[in-house]
Amino acid sequence: MQLDRVSLDLHSGTAWVQGGATLEQTYYAISQASNVHGFAAGSCPTVGVGGHISGGGFGFLSRKYGIAVDSVVDALLVDAQGQILDRESMGEEVFWAIRGGGGGIWGIIYAWKIRLLEVPKTVTSFSSL
Ligand SMILES: Cc1cc2nc3c(=O)[nH]c(=O)nc-3n(C[C@H](O)[C@H](O)[C@H](O)COP(=O)(O)OP(=O)(O)OC[C@H]3O[C@@H](n4cnc5c(N)ncnc54)[C@H](O)[C@@H]3O)c2cc1C
Repeated sequence: MQLDRVSLDLHSGTAWVQGGATLEQTYYAISQASNVHGFAAGSCPTVGVGGHISGGGFGFLSRKYGIAVDSVVDALLVDAQGQILDRESMGEEVFWAIRGGGGGIWGIIYAWKIRLLEVPKTVTSFSSL
């Protein structure tokens, strides 16, 4: 859980999100940096990106923007031999598998690189309470 840094690069429209960050930490970091960027993932703030994105990640923005893995452009994966692999070194088949195959199967996600979505400044929110 202490591997929870969210590093944004608005110039490239991407962010590195460490595997222990929650969705709340991810959304909050994006909102602090920009009011026109977002990320389509789940609705529960306490869920961790390690397991959540590994399983796909469906949320309120998904109908328009797709699920969380659709915005993943790179990842750092620690494999069973302790190697740290990025998208290029793990290869496209493993990179495909870690985006939806489920957490804890292919290795440990040290961090995800996500593409930030361009969202309108004004949105409508709702509460089911
Ligand atoms: C209250 C609640 C609300 C939810 N809402 C949504 C929702 O809106 N949309 C949706 O799509 N899903 C939702 N989920 C499901 C959620 O996405 C999954 O339960 C997800 O697996 C949680 O991941 P975690 O890392 O928080 O949990 P964990 O229990 O920590 O991890 C789940 C699995 O992933 C593995 N894992 C965790 N971190 C990593 C890592 N860094 N690298 C590799 N494997 C890892 C674990 O070993 C475990 O097998 C919700 C779940 C809860 C409890």
